Amino acid sequence: MVGGGFAGLQATKGLHGADVHVTLVDRNNYHLFQPLSYQVATGALSPAEIAQPLRRIFHDDVNVRVIMGEVTDLALDRHAIVIQPPEAGPEHELPYDSLIVAGGSAYNYFGHDEWRPLALEVKSLESAIEVRARILRAFEAAELEPDPQVRAALLTFVIVGAGPTGVEMAGQIGELARDTLRGDFRAIEPGQGRVLLVETADRVLTAFPASLSEKAAHALRRLGVTPMTDHTVTDVTSGAVELKDGSGAITRVPTRTVIWAAGVTASPLAGMLGHGCGAQVDRAGRVAVEPDLTLPGKPEVIALGDMVVLRDPRGGDPIALPGLAPVAMQEGRYAAKLILDRLAGRPTKPFRYLDKGQLATIGRGEGVADIHGLHLAGPLAWATWLLVHLFYLIGFQNRVIVLIRWAVNFLTRGRGARLITDGVTHRPGSPGR
Ligand SMILES: Cc1cc2nc3c(=O)[nH]c(=O)nc-3n(C[C@H](O)[C@H](O)[C@H](O)COP(=O)(O)OP(=O)(O)OC[C@H]3O[C@@H](n4cnc5c(N)ncnc54)[C@H](O)[C@@H]3O)c2cc1C
Repeated sequence: MVGGGFAGLQATKGLHGADVHVTLVDRNNYHLFQPLSYQVATGALSPAEIAQPLRRIFHDDVNVRVIMGEVTDLALDRHAIVIQPPEAGPEHELPYDSLIVAGGSAYNYFGHDEWRPLALEVKSLESAIEVRARILRAFEAAELEPDPQVRAALLTFVIVGAGPTGVEMAGQIGELARDTLRGDFRAIEPGQGRVLLVETADRVLTAFPASLSEKAAHALRRLGVTPMTDHTVTDVTSGAVELKDGSGAITRVPTRTVIWAAGVTASPLAGMLGHGCGAQVDRAGRVAVEPDLTLPGKPEVIALGDMVVLRDPRGGDPIALPGLAPVAMQEGRYAAKLILDRLAGRPTKPFRYLDKGQLATIGRGEGVADIHGLHLAGPLAWATWLLVHLFYLIGFQNRVIVLIRWAVNFLTRGRGARLITDGVTHRPGSPGR
């Protein structure tokens, strides 16, 4: 099993107690609950509250061995994977009978990799912690800054991409500035800062019905966020972003904090799989798998989650399921069942995704939900979001701590994890450690 994210975790759990030996390989020693990483980036939660060590999760599963290492090659012809250990040293080769690959995805920067260090994303825990430091440091620097233009740039936060992550991130920064930090500074008023949410499409949350997009935009404005729809980022530098609107007009926005939440590309492991068996790989780097999630001509290799599209058996374009945790989890559970059914000689069925709807939160008591045509907005959607995320968070202790944290944050409008912990030498443009 390559990858201990949403898909890999469910696939491994599904093989619990079965007469199979599972080796789970991940470059991290923890499972990360990505849907809450933006709360780490805005100081609402601490890193350990949304991550759980893989060894702890599988402590009681004696048929599961956890290996920390980077998978650098998939040698499908020799039925082996190549792993780079966490410390420098020779690579290891691990043979397999069945291989499940669930390496997830990463943000793509529209072909501008040079923007990556300037416009951080919140997909990894390390990056979320760095984003938290950058946001908080901008307020600290603004407190000391005599030049009003530089101060305004420090208090301008630009979020690129108005999907659920961008919307949630923008709402949280708005709340941080207006509520949490209110009264904490003497020379600046944090609530006077600008939070710009840039989106190429003509509305926020394009995957939701238009009426919910409108309500979400309204809730964002109440938090001081300016949704800049019909705008595309054309350049990012250490001091500004350049935006182009629908008419082609260019605006330069001075800012020190840009957060990236737009466009994803599949893990390079998908490309390796495609290369290894001749399967189609789409523009987002996803490999096309058969309707039972196996690779064409390689029934012993299964690929799951954000890094796959489904081949259309009728010859049409591959079917891309949404890049959501429920898709990955259902595919993971399906993969475990497929392996067990095969071992037991039972017939297998193609994978079917059960769409349970989608949710997004905007701020304290504000959310939107689209559940089988039932459109909710406001506190009810927010409460549903809260319950669903608590339910799926891994680890009982994490659930209890996060519940308490959210309750305290809600009642006090506070954020307990407002620490700048990466050290001043880590600033963009600074000499480094
Ligand atoms: C910020 C953010 C917020 C999100 N919010 C939501 C939400 O609210 N609701 C929702 O449904 N979905 C949300 N998603 C999407 C959801 O997190 C993904 O769809 C889901 O994580 C995909 O699961 P996966 O198993 O395919 O990949 P991941 O969960 O990303 O897991 C991939 C795993 O593979 C490991 N890995 C990758 N490459 C290698 C390698 N070469 N060697 C070893 N290990 C490797 C990684 O370390 C990781 O553990 C969000 C995503 C992000 C980034």
